[in-house]
Amino acid sequence: MKKLASHIIKELIGFGFRIFGVFYLIKQFSKKNKLYYVFNYHNFSKYNNYKLKRGNILETGYEESFEKQIKFFNKHFKFSYPSEFFKSTAKECSVLVTFDDGYKDNYNIALPILKKYDAKAFFFIVTSLTGTRDMLMHDKIRLLVQLNKVDKSFESIPRYLYKGTKNYDKDSIDYISKVYDEINLDEVRMMNNEDLEGIVNNGFKLGNHTHNHQGLSFLTESEQLSEMEKCDTILREITNVNTIAYPNGLYNSETIALCKTLNYDYGFTILPGVNDKGTNHLELKRIGVNASDSLNVIVFKIIMNYFGVSWI
Ligand SMILES: [Zn+2]
Repeated sequence: MKKLASHIIKELIGFGFRIFGVFYLIKQFSKKNKLYYVFNYHNFSKYNNYKLKRGNILETGYEESFEKQIKFFNKHFKFSYPSEFFKSTAKECSVLVTFDDGYKDNYNIALPILKKYDAKAFFFIVTSLTGTRDMLMHDKIRLLVQLNKVDKSFESIPRYLYKGTKNYDKDSIDYISKVYDEINLDEVRMMNNEDLEGIVNNGFKLGNHTHNHQGLSFLTESEQLSEMEKCDTILREITNVNTIAYPNGLYNSETIALCKTLNYDYGFTILPGVNDKGTNHLELKRIGVNASDSLNVIVFKIIMNYFGVSWI
């Protein structure tokens, strides 16, 4: 109920921003200040970017609303990779779309639309999941609760991770993994190697999202390096990689130092806001969006993030 109320408020405010010209003004300011908006998607299930109360993982699609979003970005912004954005001196409002985790629907639904509008996009891959029937821990929990295989109390487990206070504890991982293995899910929900090659062959970029998607700030320096290197080695069989997105947005000063050791040029966080020419290349901000978001909600998020306010 709270989620619905929050959604309606965003919808109404976004609509107001559009009809009263606020978006037009923000766009002009953004051009003048050469800003870089980076939008972050995950899979295409409804409300997927709500950190705690997400929608039904099995309910996916939203092809039409995603196409409207990409068309809108194409009309009002200039698609740029970070290397292009930081090099350009033009007064323009730049945009990039990113997809975290490596979900199959990114390939099936997003790729053809991105191609149609000549967009620029990064796909950040969790390499331990590539081509497997496995899922990320928070998705497994979400699925198993929906299928009534585990009780709702497990939904609180990812909360600690998102607050950055605790990694998934081992007992919960073991229990959830055991129940998940028992349901014998046929459907593959993550991309395989051929899909990743397809992404590169269509002109888009792959990025490091670590091998196992653990919160890097919870790991020792050598564990962090191993997580980053394993992913790097696997992806380099397909393409050159110089960009990382920190899983769950969790990183620390050791992570940043390791990125430099690995010769990484760009790192994406989930810090809200908009980037400018002075933003640290290894701490780029992103705006969390859903394929199911209407254009009013997208405009609402653009304006909130312009003012540095996060409201997910
Ligand atoms: Zn992720």
